[in-house]
Amino acid sequence: MDANDTPVDPGRFALLTDHVDRARADLAALALDIHAHPELAFDEQRTVGLLTERLADAGFGITRPLGGLDTAFRARRTFGRGGPRVALLAEYDALPELGHACGHNLIATAAVGAATAAGAALDAAGADGVLEVIGCPAEEGGGGKVLLLDAGAFDGVDAALMFHPSHRTMPVRGALAATRLTFTWHGKAAHASTNPHLGINALEACLLTFQAINALRQHFPDEHRVHGIITDGGSAPNVVPERAQAKFLVRHRKLAQVEALRDQVVRCAEAGALAVGARLEVEQGITYAERENNLPMAERFAAYLTAQGVPLDPPPTVGGVGSSDFGNLSQALPAIHAYVKIAPEGTSNHTHAFAAAAASDAGIAGMIAATKALAGTAVDLLLEPDLLAAAKDAFARRADGGRVDPAAQP
Ligand SMILES: [Zn+2]
Ligand SMILES: [Zn+2]
Repeated sequence: MDANDTPVDPGRFALLTDHVDRARADLAALALDIHAHPELAFDEQRTVGLLTERLADAGFGITRPLGGLDTAFRARRTFGRGGPRVALLAEYDALPELGHACGHNLIATAAVGAATAAGAALDAAGADGVLEVIGCPAEEGGGGKVLLLDAGAFDGVDAALMFHPSHRTMPVRGALAATRLTFTWHGKAAHASTNPHLGINALEACLLTFQAINALRQHFPDEHRVHGIITDGGSAPNVVPERAQAKFLVRHRKLAQVEALRDQVVRCAEAGALAVGARLEVEQGITYAERENNLPMAERFAAYLTAQGVPLDPPPTVGGVGSSDFGNLSQALPAIHAYVKIAPEGTSNHTHAFAAAAASDAGIAGMIAATKALAGTAVDLLLEPDLLAAAKDAFARRADGGRVDPAAQP
């Protein structure tokens, strides 16, 4: 982008940069404190206490619990006569064994830092609008945002934004739709040598299921991913397993394809059960929609990174993406989930190396850059009606997650 083309207002940028830079030591201390005390999904009490305390000090009114979740919260400031509502999203759960190996300590801190800086800029501008931080627990498999969406916590929010630490800086990156399945096969125990003919082997039903799925794999359309583990394979080698259990994830770029493939995978589990005479129990877990990137918002976020001299990387064109509860949110309102580099290229999240990066100087530097870009984008959405209108227009014209029946299209 030509320097003269940038949509970033120089005075606003200077104010936000100055505010965040002055808060840098404090924000770094908060990020490191959260990192040193990792809390798992739905159990993030200490972290939420730290975040809401800072936000209350900055003049935000706190609602907690939110949507029936004890570790979810809303922090809100209303400016002038009120008006459009923009929400910064905080994630803060850690991973078992690995701690903050997804860098959610940086996401949470950036949301607090951005809200505080944006509040100062909106005060200075005499803005009308509402700025919120929505604390979203349990991103790691718990689907916190899906639960909050279902509870109506995002009703009336006009736009939502967050950043996620990464090994590359990508204002736009896709994410797959995904669903979780748990299969439990119930057989009949028997002595595996004395009376095997009296048993029904649940483990064999489970193994046949894996074989059936693998037999189908050649015929999957491109870009499908099915992956599973066995979580119960019996209790002793001399007992015919009366119970076996496996968990699967089914993914694709589009939710509609995930739903079709899920039905095929369930049939494989039924086939395994039928072959050995076991009974199958199917538990449908949480389903994530694919991510819809709001381009006007992502472009503004990118412009704020460019204004700081942060280089941008292209997103992967094939593979290289997972799934998250943000997908569902992005199908409900204009939203961005921008990635900012905190670790050397090729460093995967959910590793010890990424956990170390989330507490490193590079981690703090990436978080500070993201904080400024989040603050700038949030302020612009409230001060520039054209930007919010463009975001809403892009959302209205989105691909609709493949859920639109093509036959119903003109
Ligand atoms: Zn993660
Ligand atoms: Zn994450």
